[in-house]
This record gives sequence, C-alpha cells and structure tokens, in this order.
Amino acid sequence: MKEDFIEKLIESFRTLPGVGYKTAQRYAFSIIEGSRDRAERFSKSLIEAKDKVGFCKVCGNFTDTQVCPICQHRNRKIICVVKDPKDIMAMEKVKTYDGVYHVLFGTISPLEHRGPDDIKIKELLARVGEDNVEEVIMATNPDVEGDATAMYIAKLLRPLGVKVTRIAQGVAMGSDLEYADEVTLSRALEGRREL
Ligand SMILES: [Zn+2]
Repeated sequence: MKEDFIEKLIESFRTLPGVGYKTAQRYAFSIIEGSRDRAERFSKSLIEAKDKVGFCKVCGNFTDTQVCPICQHRNRKIICVVKDPKDIMAMEKVKTYDGVYHVLFGTISPLEHRGPDDIKIKELLARVGEDNVEEVIMATNPDVEGDATAMYIAKLLRPLGVKVTRIAQGVAMGSDLEYADEVTLSRALEGRREL
C-alpha cells in the first residue's frame, strides 16, 4: 500500500494538545504550501528543542543548562510553587517577582490516583531545609486539586518555621494560571495571604 504522506503529517499534528482533525489538517496544508526552507527550520527546531531542553535539576523549569538561569541568579529565600513548568512562564509575566520556583509536576488527585509521593513534595521540603527559605508561595491553580495540594504542603512546611502563603483568588476560580494575564497575576501575587 502506498504511504499517505499528508495523512501522516495530519496525524503528527493531532498528537499535540488541543489540536483536532480540522486544525491538524490546516497545519499540514500550511506546511505543504510553504517553502521547503520553512519546513526544514520547523522540523529542525523540533529535534533541537527535544535534544537540548530538559528540566532544571533544582526547580524543574525547562532549561538547556543543568541549573536554570532563574535558580542561578535570583533570590533563593523565596520559592514559588507551581504545578507545571509552563506555569513558571506564566508567573514570569510578573516582572516584580525576584524569587525562585519549584515545579511539583502535578497536584494531589485522589480521582486520578495521584498521592503526595507522586509529585515533587519531598524535593521541596529538602530545598526549604537547605536554603534557609523565608517564604514559600503556593501558586498551584485555584481549583479544588490546587487548593488541596497547597493546604497539604502548607501543613508540612509550617513546622519548619517557614512562612507559607497562597496567591489571592485574582485568578478566576477554576482557571489555569497559564491563561491569566500579567495584571491578574500581579494582583494575585501581591494579594497573597498566609496559609
Ligand atoms: Zn531552576
């Protein structure tokens, strides 16, 4: 049977989050109609990013170095805890934040059988112990799982004598951090309250 190259390309795009068949088809046509140079740059950047970018061994941020620039240059006494690496990009819209981050790679979710040991809580506790951390800001999403995870971690951190805060509900309840704009995130951060 002859290979269907267009269909193969469409299927590749469909593996991306939020891309349905119609959109995948549009992307595929765009590649085919565009120049060979463009297609080559596109495929090259996919492989380069895949090969070069990994996770920071301290915070879990995307980085092409062992320790990300944020961990290298910023105030390690304040840690902002987020669910995913992409949430760091969202929080970085707040230009006044000078602390570092910690990625949990998930939230506690009984429904999805994800317990405290399945996300990076132990690693956070270790960092708090080592770096004389003064404040931990819980910036998990303002939804049921995000709130529960924040409360759980706050309970573990309190005995260590560290201040634990939660970003304000400026981010609409149930919405994702990554879609919030700069003003909303700034307000959420400024309005944080002690847990
Ligand atoms: Zn880092």
